Amino acid sequence: MNSELDSLCDVIVHLRKATKEAENNIEEPMDEDNLCTICYANEVAVVFHPCKHTSCRTCIKQQLMSCRECFYCKSNVESYSDIAPSSDMADTSAGGATSSK
Ligand SMILES: [Zn+2]
Ligand SMILES: [Zn+2]
Repeated sequence: MNSELDSLCDVIVHLRKATKEAENNIEEPMDEDNLCTICYANEVAVVFHPCKHTSCRTCIKQQLMSCRECFYCKSNVESYSDIAPSSDMADTSAGGATSSK
């Protein structure tokens, strides 16, 4: 009687499939959808911390000169960092991302 084992194998196969599909869905096309919704002129390039909203670099720089509010949720923007190209997102959250050039 291996029916239990069989169904376990089934579950594992299902899980593997689901994982693969999820991985495929992660790749987002970088199109005009990626435009900054503040100015609609530049591509979204930075993500704010801690609220994770995004805008282009120009907009957040100007915003931080006057106040530190997020455009969208009005929460305090403690810092922002570049949105890494999808190829190497491995260690962007390692810290040291607060330097303002
Ligand atoms: Zn912008
Ligand atoms: Zn926000």
